[in-house]
Amino acid sequence: MFSVGETSSKSVLQQKGIAWFIPMEWLFWVPFLSPLLGHSPWEVISISRQRHISKIHLEKGCHKGDTVEGVHDLKEYLKKFGYLNYDGSNNNHADDDSFDEFLESAVKTYQTNYHLKATGSLDAETVNKMSIPRCGVADIINGTTSMRSGKTKHHKHSSASLHTVSHYSFFPGSPRWPDSKTHLTYAFHSVSDSNILSPICARAFGMWSSASHFTFEEIEDFNAADITIGSHSMDHGDGNPFDGPGGTLAHAYAPTNGRFHYDADEEWATDLTAGSYDLYTVALHEIGHLLGLRHSSVEGAIMWPSIPSGVRKELHGDDVQGIRALYNL
Ligand SMILES: [Zn+2]
Ligand SMILES: [Zn+2]
Repeated sequence: MFSVGETSSKSVLQQKGIAWFIPMEWLFWVPFLSPLLGHSPWEVISISRQRHISKIHLEKGCHKGDTVEGVHDLKEYLKKFGYLNYDGSNNNHADDDSFDEFLESAVKTYQTNYHLKATGSLDAETVNKMSIPRCGVADIINGTTSMRSGKTKHHKHSSASLHTVSHYSFFPGSPRWPDSKTHLTYAFHSVSDSNILSPICARAFGMWSSASHFTFEEIEDFNAADITIGSHSMDHGDGNPFDGPGGTLAHAYAPTNGRFHYDADEEWATDLTAGSYDLYTVALHEIGHLLGLRHSSVEGAIMWPSIPSGVRKELHGDDVQGIRALYNL
């Protein structure tokens, strides 16, 4: 089981290198993020490890014009999730602690996406949001935001609920599985506990199956499978290293890549356990990416990027509308 022992705090996977904790102090510090490594088509990005946490103390707040130690770390965080891009600009503050107009704009966009007051200043609420572990897939890819609240693209108003607004989104170019490919096989690769993951993933695939035209089947041969599921630690060969406990929990690639990786250094659970992450909820989210959905700005949706510990989510109407829109179902 993936449960947490009360005294040892060592689960089966933890003994194999899986552990997770975030001290409360983290809530008051901006995570320092490692440089973008690798060349994933979707810029899968990881928050760096605890040892890189730096020191913007929030009692003072932080806004445009400030030069405060740690602002550079904030820039790295926002760059990695797609919010900040100094490429092609003459701005020479990309690598320093200067809170410039680019950063203010990026913080505003982040705050808008996460339903915070879009002040462009760094405040405790914003840092708290950034401190919640999340999916490693960027929110903004190639400059296109997937989550902006109030965007007009993909808005849908059903006749039954005029005020229901969908915020699902797709990867750039809307990659999807071919129309002829409705039966997808999956296999576990680099997973020592596939006996635990197998029923969990089967249930998650089943949920997506019931919401779409897809059927899924687990097979043994990961070389032949359309989808491979692995549990990996740190640098694991796809150019998108994980980050140890906390930060990024998992990532997956858009169609038809088929790769889905759990971060092996988290403390995982098969049920709702305080301080542990629900394997099923994370599978449900990452399968959404495998099928072509990007992050949603609907917090209740499974495609919302952040995934708190001890929480289970199911598919939301927004997720179902998204998959049905992508495949014209
Ligand atoms: Zn995600
Ligand atoms: Zn990976």
